[in-house]
Amino acid sequence: MSPSHPADSSDLIGLGKRYWLSVYRPRDVVLDHGKGARVWDTEGRDYVDFGAGIAVNALGHQDPDLVEALVAQAHKLWHASNVFYTEPPLRLAEELIAHAPFAERVFLCNSGAEANEAAIKLVRKWAAGQGRPPEQRVIVTFKGSFHGRTLAAVTATAQPKYQEGYEPLPGGFRYVPFNDVAALDDAFAQGGVAAVMLEPVQGEGGVMPAAPGFLQAVRERCDTHGALMVLDEIQSGMGRTGMLFAHAHDHVTPDIVTVAKALGAGFPIGAMLAGPKVAETMQFGAHGTTFGGNPMAAAVARVALRKIVSPEVLLNVERQGNDIRKGLDKCNHAFELFSEVRGRGLMLGAVLAPTYAGRAGEILDIAAAHGLLLLQAGPDVLRLVPPLTITDAEVAEGLERMQATLAEFAARQAKVA
Ligand SMILES: *Cc1c(COP(=O)(O)O)cnc(C)c1O
Repeated sequence: MSPSHPADSSDLIGLGKRYWLSVYRPRDVVLDHGKGARVWDTEGRDYVDFGAGIAVNALGHQDPDLVEALVAQAHKLWHASNVFYTEPPLRLAEELIAHAPFAERVFLCNSGAEANEAAIKLVRKWAAGQGRPPEQRVIVTFKGSFHGRTLAAVTATAQPKYQEGYEPLPGGFRYVPFNDVAALDDAFAQGGVAAVMLEPVQGEGGVMPAAPGFLQAVRERCDTHGALMVLDEIQSGMGRTGMLFAHAHDHVTPDIVTVAKALGAGFPIGAMLAGPKVAETMQFGAHGTTFGGNPMAAAVARVALRKIVSPEVLLNVERQGNDIRKGLDKCNHAFELFSEVRGRGLMLGAVLAPTYAGRAGEILDIAAAHGLLLLQAGPDVLRLVPPLTITDAEVAEGLERMQATLAEFAARQAKVA
């Protein structure tokens, strides 16, 4: 092996530590290949994947239909830009709209942040078109939200830890406690609200679902005050909660919805879906992107969408979600580490009891050592977002490894005590 191509995982990790901008702290594992809800590292160890690349690999790893779509498109045309038409993004737009009764038009892009950036710009353009001055184009967002890392998206993200040091931030955002209708009314009472933007289930902020009736309350206020309802379904969408869009559980009709993560099931792509109030707002030259709607990404996303909306996959989400929840409850019976298990479908959060607050990262390390890939949602919540196609056997094995992980964590506490 030449020194420029080290195979040893500690050498590879050394490259990351030496050359990457130090914005990540990955676990000390180098993943090499995957199949279904299982991945292998460069040392040959296997892991059950309860993280799915942060809720991205909706169909697991190496889904044969996705591979086929990608390879077929790779032999035809990789990229054309939006200066010319190609078939995959045209078909994808048609198929997305067919499954999104609230939407009339689609803007394809490359990531979640970019989809939200488009949504924020669309809200502003819409309000401007109504003759509202800039100070009356306020977007209300919620504490604990996460909308991405670009400057506007991070400003929409009402969590100081993501914003500190990046000031001056763009203006025109107003923050409100999540699931608090009275506080939302106060925010509207201050005037100038053009939109309310929220996640139906807050993801990064701790896997916190909107309370029953909250999305409807937002819809009503938006209608009363002439504001748009924007839903960030980047994590909760594309089948994650057992329906294509999480807001469908609540029977609300949003004006704008953003999706990304699982849209390409592992190939980068995002989308903003626009309803009738805003479908004609953006005209030629108002917005754009070089890579958005790339034929490779769109070809894969078409197949991902077709498979995700199948009853087989959506029912699997519900069934495996219930089984994992039961498994977590059973673990908790044994170790009493969680104060609550919450979420919807295969978007689950196990909230650490106050005694163990701040220690989710430590549990992720132990889990990796036990062959389980877990995520956290902040320092206090273990997040489980496995592939939507995870099998009974993979769930059973993942839960066994979860049990072993928590047993080891609990044993460490006993030693300390
Ligand atoms: C991940 C995420 C984003 C940002 O998506 P990127 O693709 O990382 O830019 C935005 N909103 C929500 C709800 C997310 O989970």
